[in-house]
Amino acid sequence: MIVSIFNDVIGPVMRGPSSSHCAAALRIGRLARDLMGGEFNEVLVEFDRNGSLPTTHDSQGSDMGLFGGLLGWDAADERLPGSPQALRDAGVTIRIETVDTGDEHPNTYRLTLRNPRGEQHTLIAISTGGGMMEVINVDGFAVSLFGDYHETFLSVIGNGADLVKRVTALGGVDEVLLHEHCGKQWVEVKAAHFLSDATIAELRKACPILSVKRLAPVLPIASRKDTRVPFTTCAEMLAHDAGRNLPLWKLAVEYEMARGHLTEAEVIAKMVDIVRILRRSIQQGIAGTQYEDRVLGHQSGKFNELLQAGRLLNGGALNRIVLYVTAMMEVKSSMGVIVAAPTAGACAALPGAVIAMAEEMQYSEEQMAKAMLASGLIGVFIATRWTFAAEVGGCQAEGGSAAAMAAAALVSLANGTLLQSVAAASMAFQSMLGLICDPVANRVEVPCLGKNVLAASNALSCANIALADYDPVIPFDEVLETAQRVASQMPRELRCTAQGGLSITPTSLAIEQRLAAKKAASCGSGCACH
Ligand code: SF4
Repeated sequence: MIVSIFNDVIGPVMRGPSSSHCAAALRIGRLARDLMGGEFNEVLVEFDRNGSLPTTHDSQGSDMGLFGGLLGWDAADERLPGSPQALRDAGVTIRIETVDTGDEHPNTYRLTLRNPRGEQHTLIAISTGGGMMEVINVDGFAVSLFGDYHETFLSVIGNGADLVKRVTALGGVDEVLLHEHCGKQWVEVKAAHFLSDATIAELRKACPILSVKRLAPVLPIASRKDTRVPFTTCAEMLAHDAGRNLPLWKLAVEYEMARGHLTEAEVIAKMVDIVRILRRSIQQGIAGTQYEDRVLGHQSGKFNELLQAGRLLNGGALNRIVLYVTAMMEVKSSMGVIVAAPTAGACAALPGAVIAMAEEMQYSEEQMAKAMLASGLIGVFIATRWTFAAEVGGCQAEGGSAAAMAAAALVSLANGTLLQSVAAASMAFQSMLGLICDPVANRVEVPCLGKNVLAASNALSCANIALADYDPVIPFDEVLETAQRVASQMPRELRCTAQGGLSITPTSLAIEQRLAAKKAASCGSGCACH
């Protein structure tokens, strides 16, 4: 799939501590719900013992997101924290089990759903970071679904090839695929709309169709088969620019126009909407947030008081950046609305840096949006060749990516050159290589707040040294390849399993126990998820 800024990099708009847990699981749940036509009363969820989910699915919000998705909710739905109870109230029994399946990807979800009439379907999906997911198997058929099309599945026996020809001949669809498994056939139709009942009735006259399943898209930007983007790596982008020195945000707009079949005005307007959400969240965070199940309380309020009273060390705009980063992290931890940019764990560094700096410069929301778009293009390069998933890459994939993206965005705000934007991204990423993921008490708060502050501070420093034409030496694409190589050398204990680093300190374990006891007390013994 071709990466989109709004699908894969700046988004989703969501609630919850972790996009690779909450938002991705919610999307998986929505697709599973559609597979059952919205009717089911039993769900079995299985996680591989050696993956990251057995130890994180509850505390990092997979359950909350998955249950919300099974209920058909949106990723920013305010009812999400109550999704376990809502699912129970809907009469659905959930079992979550740890199994030995040897799944290759650490974030693999295996779902089996049944309805009272005995109909059963299975779905296997992986969460690939930043809220993105891929369904890789449905009912034993190997598939590849990213939630970017209207998907119509037609179950047939023996005449699948003929049906593929007939559907293709109808025109107006993007892809028609034949899947075969154990003597059964499925024809998958990817399009901008579902095959209508009338069309299916017509097809049935020539080919017996046993059943029809319709899975609605879960991504904001749809795909089309004929989509071509102008570049997918930093080097290709520089070649495409061919010395014109276009601003990075303009190249980002050009990319997203091609990817999403949008106009320039639509791309900018979408990002302005996101900027408005971010600004509201920051103000909400500073005003104060409440949530029981979290490690840190409201800290940004006091920071703001000292900042306003001139009682902090003089950090210039950096102090406002730190305030905004903290406020955004507090909103995330209180289940408020955030934007995964590029992930929920690292949701604060980029918007904190961009919005604080733009406000210092008295810039408009459109200027903020352009800087966010510039950062989005750096994220496109990362998501195309690698991942934002800490389970794969450690915190260098989250915080490192956020720092690189924010550095490029800040250069963009300062009207720096294209080469300076790219240099800032390269230098910021270089200094985040090897960063481990070790959330305290299995909550995405500590050391995540510090890592977001670090990423934003690093971004500001790297933007300034890039503006002064410091030499990054290593091109951005090579730094990205290095992050990938370093990730493959990191033990899984240091990649978001809560089994290493600060996660296993006595203090972390004690906090985790305390929070678990509190949650159990408020949840009661009838919790469907345990
Ligand atoms: S340590 Fe970094 S990667 Fe891990 S949960 Fe926190 S922000 Fe995400």
